[in-house]
Amino acid sequence: MDKGVLVVVSGLSGAGKGTICKRLLEKYPDYVLSVSVTSRKPREGEEHGREYFFITKEEFEDRINQGKLLEFAQYVGNYYGTPKDWVDEQLNAGKDIVLEIELQGAFQVRKKIPEAVLIFVLPPDMEELKRRLVNRGTETMEEIDRRIQRALEEMEFVPEYDYVIINEDVEKSVDMLHNIVRSEKNKGE
Ligand code: 5GP
Repeated sequence: MDKGVLVVVSGLSGAGKGTICKRLLEKYPDYVLSVSVTSRKPREGEEHGREYFFITKEEFEDRINQGKLLEFAQYVGNYYGTPKDWVDEQLNAGKDIVLEIELQGAFQVRKKIPEAVLIFVLPPDMEELKRRLVNRGTETMEEIDRRIQRALEEMEFVPEYDYVIINEDVEKSVDMLHNIVRSEKNKGE
């Protein structure tokens, strides 16, 4: 059996990448989404094992030292990382995996798994980005400003990605993503 494709989706906070990934899995159930570990506190409505595995900073550092993470990064004061064994198992089982991670992690993945496909999601414009973050209502204004600052820094690295999707319409973005993965699969045949 062919190995699965590892799809890395990054994007500016508030660009809608979470919505795209969620919809991708609903529309095309053959994908699996990696559940990361994080030292961030759960937001209202988030569940351990669904959005993230929520662990302490100390537990996170143990996992780093034990080599249990495929990649990890600090983002606005918290750790985030991808469980390595799960990714290996799914890829070997031929599953196409989606990692929704920020860019330092994305480049670590590319180093370790060069066949990974890196996709960056952008909002149609920066005003839209702030509006989406504010409307989401899950962060304080200070946290939103920090996330926007970080977003501006990340823009510099967008050209390093294999593909950019400008998220004007979720359904269109989902199909674009799916088509990218399909054509990447065909490349190897
Ligand atoms: P949030 O706090 O909004 O859930 O996530 C903050 C950022 O961390 C987002 O850009 C998200 O994609 C990223 N992120 C989530 N999980 C991981 C992970 O496992 N590794 C890395 N490097 N980034 C992650």
